[in-house]
Amino acid sequence: MIFDKDKLSIFNKEETPFYYYDIELLERTLDAAKSAADKRNFHIHYALKANFNDRILAVIQSKGFGADCVSGNEVQKAIDVGFPASQITFAGVGKSDKEISTALRHNIFAFNVESIQELEVINELAIKEGVKANVSLRINPNVDANTHHYITTGLDENKFGVPNTELEKAASVLEDCTHINLVGLHFHVGSQILDLEVFKNLCIKVNQWKGWFEDRGITIKVINVGGGLGVDYNQPDNHPIPDFESYFDVFDKFLDRTAGQEVHFELGRALVAQCGSLISRVLYTKSGAKKNFLILDAGMTELMRPALYQAYHKIERIGADENVPKLHYDVVGPICESSDSFGKDIELPISNRGDMIAIRTAGAYGEVMASRYNLREEIRYFYSE
Ligand SMILES: *Cc1c(COP(=O)(O)O)cnc(C)c1O
Repeated sequence: MIFDKDKLSIFNKEETPFYYYDIELLERTLDAAKSAADKRNFHIHYALKANFNDRILAVIQSKGFGADCVSGNEVQKAIDVGFPASQITFAGVGKSDKEISTALRHNIFAFNVESIQELEVINELAIKEGVKANVSLRINPNVDANTHHYITTGLDENKFGVPNTELEKAASVLEDCTHINLVGLHFHVGSQILDLEVFKNLCIKVNQWKGWFEDRGITIKVINVGGGLGVDYNQPDNHPIPDFESYFDVFDKFLDRTAGQEVHFELGRALVAQCGSLISRVLYTKSGAKKNFLILDAGMTELMRPALYQAYHKIERIGADENVPKLHYDVVGPICESSDSFGKDIELPISNRGDMIAIRTAGAYGEVMASRYNLREEIRYFYSE
């Protein structure tokens, strides 16, 4: 995705800030993921929480992906845009009774259950609805994702999943749950994982836990290994599409599969991050004793990741001439918080009021985290075609 003078002339007609989505890149990314998965007979559920923009969802749904949801409203949204209920999973440590009932009525593929108490509640609600709930047990495998601690989920100190010390009890509770059908096991260790060793370690743990259940005569039809594959935030144009082949290869190689056993994935970021950019205009420039500031019309209310996780996003001037001298800037937003900054000491062509800036790799956990703090405008978006 090149932000050249042609793009500048298109964008210049638009009110900023807005999200720009490259639908062609999204489609190529989805095709690469789908063909790498199909080749190995793997199933992918798209994690809606990464981006539930209607157009993006429609494209993903049309390519035959399943959906991975983390709230009752996401389950309803997935149904509304046409994902088949038989391909919808529902995870989350705190599912409310209302959310569980919504998902039960749709007869989704599986609840990813995160505690023993939740098992009991789902069983009770299934009795009330007169249905059987399909359930995967989310096991906390204690695998270090080597990622930012805010996006690590599979360690003993994290809140997610049934603690592995409780599995004995979970297995016996399951036996008493007349309205639960155990379909499999679920794992998800974190996000933005680029070290494939992490997934190999996950496979080893999954094999152990799977064996633990099978030794007790419990059939595991589905192994769901979650998502978490990372993207290149530093060089989005060099790696616009993640290496799905190598990723799936790890699971193909290291995961034990018995006949008829299905392997499922829940990818979010890897599918949608690179197709989105946040487009903004410089409102003001100022230079103090220590710093040069570029003050944008976009802030943490449009893209929260830098403020929330100290996340890095590449920042570019759109359509700048090559020979413009460069300067180091702190690139900040207009929101009344010191954490409202997109990057410190970023080298950019000398910029002026009205110049356009792209904040790259913003398609995942960007628009969906937008807020109205400071009573900001509703977020806008614009598609490539
Ligand atoms: C967020 C989440 C995902 C997707 O994670 P990515 O890092 O975006 O791939 C998958 N599964 C569960 C349970 C999640 O909470």
